[in-house]
Amino acid sequence: RSGFVAIIGRPNVGKSTLMNHLIGQKIAIMSDKPQTTRNKIHGVYTTDEAQIVFLDTPGIHKPQSKLGDYMFKTAESALKEVEAALFLVDVAEGIGGGDRFIIEQLKKVKTPVFLVLNKIDKIEPEKLLPIITEYKDLYDFAEIVPISALQGNNVETLLAQLIRYL
Ligand code: GDP
Ligand code: MG
Repeated sequence: RSGFVAIIGRPNVGKSTLMNHLIGQKIAIMSDKPQTTRNKIHGVYTTDEAQIVFLDTPGIHKPQSKLGDYMFKTAESALKEVEAALFLVDVAEGIGGGDRFIIEQLKKVKTPVFLVLNKIDKIEPEKLLPIITEYKDLYDFAEIVPISALQGNNVETLLAQLIRYL
């Protein structure tokens, strides 16, 4: 199985960290500053059963400048080019306006979207279910997978689910 997968989400949710974990190399630039990832960065994940090209996109957000506008288009066009998208959110932050804006963009495409609840290492396990419910009310996600990109928790499960969509 093979295909293209976009990793989307607002700045600092852990997109580059996840990509680095998946690919096992430091290809995407990581930083605490938003917008370090200026363009799509492709990482290729290959095993005996699958080849997945991951696109680490700039954060989708309301454009505030010419540069922001360019970066927004890059993320939006990435959505149309892929077999599936991973929408990463920071569970410790809660749903923000940025997330709602992205969800509005998701509604414009038919691409299956995974809700990836990242940074589960930062919250109490019992807080997870109410967060899932909140997101479910906003969009019909193909799958919902809680992970810690930093620690690698549940990333294998995410991959296994993803492969089924390719
Ligand atoms: P991006 O802007 O979405 O690409 O986010 P980055 O991958 O650059 O990560 C932003 C910050 O969040 C960095 O300081 C990461 O170390 C941190 N981070 C990413 N994933 C996790 C996680 O699962 N748990 C915790 N605690 N921190 C994380
Ligand atoms: Mg990044």
